Amino acid sequence: MDYIVRATACGGQIRAFAATTRSLVEQAREIHQTSPVCTAALGRLMTAGAMMGIMLKGEDDLMTMTIRGDGPMQGLTVTADARGRVKGFVYNPNVWNAPKYKGKLDVGNAIGRGTLTVVRDQAFGEPYSSQVELVSGEIAEDLTSYFVTSEQVPSSVGLGVLVNTDQSVEQAGGFIIQLMPGYTDETVNRLEENLKKIHSVTKLLEDGLSPEEILQTILADMDLELLDTVPAEFYCNCSRERVTKVLLSIGEKDLQEMIDEGKPVELACHFCGKKYSFSVDELKILLAAARARKQKS
Ligand SMILES: [Zn+2]
Repeated sequence: MDYIVRATACGGQIRAFAATTRSLVEQAREIHQTSPVCTAALGRLMTAGAMMGIMLKGEDDLMTMTIRGDGPMQGLTVTADARGRVKGFVYNPNVWNAPKYKGKLDVGNAIGRGTLTVVRDQAFGEPYSSQVELVSGEIAEDLTSYFVTSEQVPSSVGLGVLVNTDQSVEQAGGFIIQLMPGYTDETVNRLEENLKKIHSVTKLLEDGLSPEEILQTILADMDLELLDTVPAEFYCNCSRERVTKVLLSIGEKDLQEMIDEGKPVELACHFCGKKYSFSVDELKILLAAARARKQKS
């Protein structure tokens, strides 16, 4: 089962998250039929999303991360809520580039140069949006840069996805370590020493470490205190009602064209692939509603 562990260390100078996300990444792969390099990109961003989601303050807050790049993958979008639920998709799931070196998928080149945008939707107040240039397109480094430049929180982000030869997900997970206000140089030095000893997240996952063990490794001898565990899952909140709103927003002309085609229209959710079908009669009702709405405004 997928879950996220929340922890602190050094008497509150550090807050830390680690996650195991194999099932939710595999589910996303099955839905979107992603190539290995796209599975790695989506899995990394969804893993980060799951951890960043539970950092949200309000129970009903949402966070959406969008990466747009000039590489063949074009980009990806991940949305997470405060309860460990996450969903996502890549724009072109069929990228088959050469590995960086043996066993290492080249996510950076598949994404290319571009931007990372993070939007937080709060139940109360205006949405908060922030954008940074991609550092490498490898996602963990890009998020580290985001935390430092947009949130002024020195952070270390590690994300890993291992793909089997049959393309299924063997292992996925990661960590986010953040320095809280009032941290000392001693804490920074010790953390840096510990991080140096870690080869890569992929290696930790290969060794079969649980999220708890990942934190115990990174925060060894730093008074690690595990706080709680949150289950994580792939979850899409799409509904017929939401899709109807999308149809209503496309405009009268396009609706009329669909009606003139005389065939039911099928729309698929970008995130989960669920299909919603609308009959010609339903489209006519929507068109009437769109006209009525226009007259009112
Ligand atoms: Zn959906």
